[in-house]
Amino acid sequence: MLVRARVLPTRLVHIVASRRQLRPCQRVESFPLSRRQTLFHTNTMDSLLASLSITPAARVSHSETSSPATWREALAANASTPTNSFELIKTLVFKPKTAKTAVPVPVVVIARDDTETNSGALGKKLNLKELRLASEDLLTEFFALDKNSLSPLALNETTFPKVVTVVDASIASSSSLFAIRALSSSATLFLSGKDILTYLRHLETDAVKIQELDFANLAASAPAPAPSSSKPEKEDAKIEGAVQIAIGVKKEVDFAGWYTNVLIKADMLDYYSVSGCYILKPWSYSIWEEITQWFNAEIKELGVQNSYFPMFVSQKVLEREKDHIEGFSPEVAWVTKAGNSDLEEPIAIRPTSETAMYPYYAKWIKSHRDLPLKLNQWNSVVRWEFKNPQPFLRTREFLWQEGHTAFLTKAEADTEVRQILDLYRRVFEELLAVPVIPGIKSEKEKFAGGLYTTTVEGFIPTSGRGIQGATSHCLGQNFSRPEMFNIVVEDPNDPTGQGKTYVWQNSWGLSTRTIGVMVMVHGDNQGLVLPPRVASVQTVIVPCGITAKSTDETRAQINNACADLAKTLKKAGIRAKADLRDGYTPGYKFNDWEQKGVPLRLEIGPNDLAKQQTLTVRRDTGAKNPISLADIGATVSALLDKIQNDMYTKAKMTYDSSLKEVTRWDDVVPTLDNKCVVVMPWCEVEACEDDIKERSGRASEPQDERAPSAGAKSLCIPFDQARWTPIVPGQTKCPACGKDAKRWTMFGRSY
Ligand SMILES: [Zn+2]
Repeated sequence: MLVRARVLPTRLVHIVASRRQLRPCQRVESFPLSRRQTLFHTNTMDSLLASLSITPAARVSHSETSSPATWREALAANASTPTNSFELIKTLVFKPKTAKTAVPVPVVVIARDDTETNSGALGKKLNLKELRLASEDLLTEFFALDKNSLSPLALNETTFPKVVTVVDASIASSSSLFAIRALSSSATLFLSGKDILTYLRHLETDAVKIQELDFANLAASAPAPAPSSSKPEKEDAKIEGAVQIAIGVKKEVDFAGWYTNVLIKADMLDYYSVSGCYILKPWSYSIWEEITQWFNAEIKELGVQNSYFPMFVSQKVLEREKDHIEGFSPEVAWVTKAGNSDLEEPIAIRPTSETAMYPYYAKWIKSHRDLPLKLNQWNSVVRWEFKNPQPFLRTREFLWQEGHTAFLTKAEADTEVRQILDLYRRVFEELLAVPVIPGIKSEKEKFAGGLYTTTVEGFIPTSGRGIQGATSHCLGQNFSRPEMFNIVVEDPNDPTGQGKTYVWQNSWGLSTRTIGVMVMVHGDNQGLVLPPRVASVQTVIVPCGITAKSTDETRAQINNACADLAKTLKKAGIRAKADLRDGYTPGYKFNDWEQKGVPLRLEIGPNDLAKQQTLTVRRDTGAKNPISLADIGATVSALLDKIQNDMYTKAKMTYDSSLKEVTRWDDVVPTLDNKCVVVMPWCEVEACEDDIKERSGRASEPQDERAPSAGAKSLCIPFDQARWTPIVPGQTKCPACGKDAKRWTMFGRSY
């Protein structure tokens, strides 16, 4: 999971080690509002709302948030937030195209966060040309606010007459509690939809009214943006009748909302008081344990030993390799203080351990007889990301293993790179039932400071985005060179006996990102779907058919049969559990375990018992089948194997059908917009990759700030080139630049 970092301005994170001062502070850009101004707004705002008989359900202060995701997370983690089932209100400002001399009339759109606000359709409806999201400058000019502080409350007697205000019609009638920015990115008010409307209506005059718009209808009536991008039918993201324990949000409509809901409701994780960090609860940690146990056994077979290096890295050592540190520096967290005193020299928290370990490799490797050296460590690393955090996929601290090996020859290093990559492939395919494509990264995407990077690339069908699964790097002799860590041995093959050789090194890592990919690929609108190999409960047994009229004897018989069955299955090596909780209906239990993704449910009622059978219900397909209790261990084992295989096969078919062979540039963006991965014959020139990213990003028009508008980057050059039409050297051209193509390469939007 070593990602080459984007170029961001360097920001230091001060981690203060005193107990009284546990207050990590960041040097972040200043916001237009001073604290004094915010307070001023707060007081006048309260009295204004009171005069309109609006009483906010809560006012919550939190850290500054810069996106819907961080905002939602900050609220969810805050004890003052009244409930976990609230919705965010987004306030978007669009600017129509006007003559340069004309004063623009911005369009302020107030909508539920999951409402799609298509600027094209909106412009058509309002008869305004080329609506674009307004620049920060315009927001400052009109509202004296940045986009993360904007809310319906930014409309007042001064601003309201100068803008067109459009309100999502579904807000007024909704029973949801809405979070709106209290004119600050670090304060939130909770209001009902009715309150929001009351507030806006009080601004109306005979001349200026708000416009309520049904965005769902608007989207449906909008002209298709391109013939090939078949938009899913617009539906309400909320699942009808979904109460309490259902997921509540449809995967295909609001994927980000669905993902977080699944994780919370399946009891996989909880939010944490430090933004971008999450608690892994037992239900998800047990999956990580399955992965670690399997992987540990495999690498030990290869002669790898586990060890542990400290999490702190001195500045001097961390910065020794230039390309490497350039790749990571924007995300490095530094300890700068101990108690109240400044450290003489800041100490980094490892973003990865190459530079921490290799000085000791130089010390330990004195002879070619000390090679190969193969160490691994299971640890966590810290990368202080500023982008939207996403549980498992982009978090500031994550768990992983990092292997670091040293060899005498390049051939040995090359072999191991591929051996490890194949283990990663098997973690995804055999344990998580997630198909991946092994390949090599482009020069632009390779590990910072390495020779080459191999990867297993996954795919998330719902968003149509590629996702890097795990990476295995050959570092070459880059870190062992004399001016670097100087890891050198005498060359046993040198006839003079005087020759020296610098060792060949690899590093490889697999992280808890695996779990996020698994959730995204298999989960459905009922919740999580776990592949049996990694499920901590593979089979749950639920007693059924017990009613108020049932005798105590019947009740005991059924419960005992369930407990016995669990015992029998455990003896057969199956992770089984009988759910004998009192006071819950079978229906409640079914939902509960479905939501948590248990692969197989067995039901036993009085009739089943009489027939010595049990009803099996598969989580992945919902298929129900009675099976005999005789030889149940073998039957259930076989069924779990089948579920595992079927889940993989289904995901593989989806991935395969989303890989599109493209040979004309004109087909690239429509293919991406169609949630597919482009596979094209590519020239492998770095400038061409930059150009592809730029052109594919620009061509697809962003509909609102959350739309996946990012350009495509190369995901990998698959090792298996044979599945595509052979490239004819000197004849097959790169569709992006027209130069000679070298290999088929996957391009896609990605995580
Ligand atoms: Zn090219």
